Amino acid sequence: MAYKDPEKKKQKMREYRQNNKDKILEKTREYRQNNKEKIAEYYQNNKEKILEKTREYRQNNKEKVAEIRRKYTENNKEKIAEYYQNNKDKILEKTREYRQNNKEKVLKYKREYGNSPKGKSLSVNKYAKVRGAEGNISVKHIKSLMKLNKCNAPNCQHTDNLEYDHKIPISKGGLNIDSNLWTLCPNHHREKSKYDHSLNQSLKPDWLDIDYKIQEVEKPKTAQLSLF
Ligand SMILES: [Zn+2]
Repeated sequence: MAYKDPEKKKQKMREYRQNNKDKILEKTREYRQNNKEKIAEYYQNNKEKILEKTREYRQNNKEKVAEIRRKYTENNKEKIAEYYQNNKDKILEKTREYRQNNKEKVLKYKREYGNSPKGKSLSVNKYAKVRGAEGNISVKHIKSLMKLNKCNAPNCQHTDNLEYDHKIPISKGGLNIDSNLWTLCPNHHREKSKYDHSLNQSLKPDWLDIDYKIQEVEKPKTAQLSLF
């Protein structure tokens, strides 16, 4: 069947592809299986062109690519873990090499990531996890603390180098939950930490029991265990 109108032909092709997705996929798979060498040769001969096209596509379809990657990772966890196990040395070597050759880029990325809400929440959660605390600080909470940008000691005007602090310290049974995390300036943090570690009343900062600015602290679950 010949179409004189190229638009009509295109439309028909589109329809055919739409209605025969599985069949086409199967055919493609089959073709690839049977023509591995031919395909590899084509790739070798057109590597630069293909890589350029791929780069271009990725650049123009960032969200789509990220979504595909996310889905693939989600659906292939075991496969990815297995691949990593079988290629660990190679992957580590490649990573080392990349880091070596892109020191500034890596540093910049680390700095940016470390200062992002996601990076901050990860490092707080890691801190809490190695100390055996329950819970997880949300990225959303870190974002709101960043937006608030204040030391929670009353009347403190510091907004530089704020530090994250568990109101009820993890070492004293505090949970790693949003309502138990706030920011303090380095000076007030140091002052509170001295008291946190010793629980010596004479070291308790006079500002500490005055009105918490974020939310009321939830009672840590573990506190109920120490009734006797
Ligand atoms: Zn302060």
